[in-house]
Amino acid sequence: MKKIFTFSFDDGTVQDKRLIAMLKKYGFTATFNLSSGLFGYEYSFDMNGHHVVHTRLSAEEAKEVYKGFEVAAHTRTHNCLRLLPRKEIIEEVVPDYIALSELFGYPVRGLAYAWGGTNYDRLSTDILQNDTNIRYARNVEESGTLNFPENFLEWHPSAHILSDDTDRLLSEFEKAENDCLLYIWGHTFELDFDNGWERTEKILERLSEIEGAVCMTNMQIYREITGEK
Ligand SMILES: [Zn+2]
Repeated sequence: MKKIFTFSFDDGTVQDKRLIAMLKKYGFTATFNLSSGLFGYEYSFDMNGHHVVHTRLSAEEAKEVYKGFEVAAHTRTHNCLRLLPRKEIIEEVVPDYIALSELFGYPVRGLAYAWGGTNYDRLSTDILQNDTNIRYARNVEESGTLNFPENFLEWHPSAHILSDDTDRLLSEFEKAENDCLLYIWGHTFELDFDNGWERTEKILERLSEIEGAVCMTNMQIYREITGEK
């Protein structure tokens, strides 16, 4: 039985360091989705009454911080591919994974679509498939299931890490006796509020107690399922 769980976090902000320390404590891995054109970019905004610090790690720091974890692309300047014409989609994707591959020293073949809602369309998946080295791409529309993706370029996460549904999915995952995949995504800056860090610690603790469950990066899952190297 393949009982797999995976984590995918977007934007490469400074809070990733705190999550990585927690993941290391449990011996877990994860995938981090970065925009190569925005390293070191300092930004903050107000969301739901909270002041959000959205400072991205510098390229030098990222190289150290993400050692041992998977880095995937997130578009060069954090753009919504669904809103772009063909030429601009390629410009957002190709130089991004090339820059990340050079910086991190391995071929980056994963991507998380930037922006919320429906952030990709048929044109973007066709371009990824035919004109790029990207092999999987995650969106933000939650499946609410423990299913493996039907199409790796339209990979739905199971749930957001702070979703009300995460607890139910964890219980299902604990009990599952068939092949299944629990896919949790989010942004680490979101964990600064609503007891996010405590809730994350509880999730990691629960996962660490499930016998036979294996933590993988997104790319490891892609390879496991497709048999590609
Ligand atoms: Zn993002």
